Amino acid sequence: MTKPVDNATIKKMDRDHYLHPFSNLTEMKQVGSRIIERAEGVYLYDSDGHRTLDGFAGLWCVNLGYGRDELSAVAAEQMKQLPYYNSFFGTTNAPAAELAALLKEVTPPQFNHVFFTGSGSESNDTVVRMVRRYWQCQEQPSRKVIISRKNAYHGSTIAGASLGGMGYMHKQDEGLPMQYVEHIDQPYWFAEGGELTPEEFGLERAGQLEQKILELGEDNVAAFIAEPIQGAGGVIVPPASYWPEIQRICRQYNILLVSDEVICGFGRTGHWFGCEHFGVEPDLMSVAKGMTSGYLPMGGVIVSDKVANVLVEKGGDFNHGFTYSGHPVSAAVAVANIKALRDEGLIEEAASGSGAYFRQQLQLLAEHPVVGEVRSVGLVGAIELCADKQSRDFFPDRGATGTLCRLHALENGLVLRATEDTMLFSPPLVISHAEIDEMMTITRASLDHVAKCHG
Ligand code: PLP
Repeated sequence: MTKPVDNATIKKMDRDHYLHPFSNLTEMKQVGSRIIERAEGVYLYDSDGHRTLDGFAGLWCVNLGYGRDELSAVAAEQMKQLPYYNSFFGTTNAPAAELAALLKEVTPPQFNHVFFTGSGSESNDTVVRMVRRYWQCQEQPSRKVIISRKNAYHGSTIAGASLGGMGYMHKQDEGLPMQYVEHIDQPYWFAEGGELTPEEFGLERAGQLEQKILELGEDNVAAFIAEPIQGAGGVIVPPASYWPEIQRICRQYNILLVSDEVICGFGRTGHWFGCEHFGVEPDLMSVAKGMTSGYLPMGGVIVSDKVANVLVEKGGDFNHGFTYSGHPVSAAVAVANIKALRDEGLIEEAASGSGAYFRQQLQLLAEHPVVGEVRSVGLVGAIELCADKQSRDFFPDRGATGTLCRLHALENGLVLRATEDTMLFSPPLVISHAEIDEMMTITRASLDHVAKCHG
């Protein structure tokens, strides 16, 4: 492919005209952007000739790795055959129908239906609309409140950002969170567990759901939404006591349980869906990202029989949908991607192959003097950087150390993400043992750098 313009011109066009998502728009005018030109397997190649190991699978999404020709071939073929048609007004297309049926095969048994969207945020907007419609159909329209958690991430639309519990997002918009959304505390033992054991703390945090339901009145509560493992919040793996108690409470008060699987879905945790790792049975699941391995935008809400039967039998019109719901090209890519994940055994790899090796190697870093805790499940993990292992005290100026570590890793050929001082790992599921070794070597060097700077 010929380059349309030289790199200096690309950087200028970008700086002059492109407002980037989740970026410091003031700083970007001075600093500019790095141009990623191509990618292969787990490696990114930029316009300055650097090769970087992508320890973050793009944005938690390139589960199948980069450069899979069969996905681009399927997209090209589908574009020629039928680039677009809508799914409104009694119409469908073959890839969307095939994808709906394939999802039934890989999801837990209570799921037989899907509503397609264009992204994770749209999926969570759809959750809000669908949950409210469900309770209307059940003649309990007072059940409107959705309970979520502080420090959760559920997207950037008004509904997504409201369900999310990111204080820094709410601070920039006085309209957030929207009406009928309530937040409880997160199960983040390392930072908030105090003197409690993880198990006691898990029960205490799950108990907040019950307290909130009682405070609001159970007849006013529609659903509880949570990521099985909070991703952007810092790969927060809840204590083992947490999810069973949440499930018990939702069942006792007849609250719908929504699992946001946008990150955890499609193999990240060594199961098809993160809820399966915790033995939880949700009523709805939001998905996106790994559904197409990020090759094209697509999302969905996976709907259990409990909800779908009501919507179908009592609901009639569901006045909700998107131009790109069931987009034929995205759906064709999703089908090819899911079949590759399945046929290449990549879910099992994340559980017991490369995933087991990743977890073992990451755990070795727990001994490092600046590391307070290592957490991991499947092929997702986190390292807590802290000043004191015993007291779990963070370094002063929280966030600065995470940035120091992240930038050092980047300069040495590894993309990691930092949430404050928590280093996050989420590599493509195709990562090899040798590539995991490379990731750990660079990470260890970055931890040494952190120790030296705090020396
Ligand atoms: N839910 C979770 C758990 C996410 O991590 C994200 C994005 O990172 C979203 C929802 C929103 O997805 P999107 O960016 O595709 O709108």
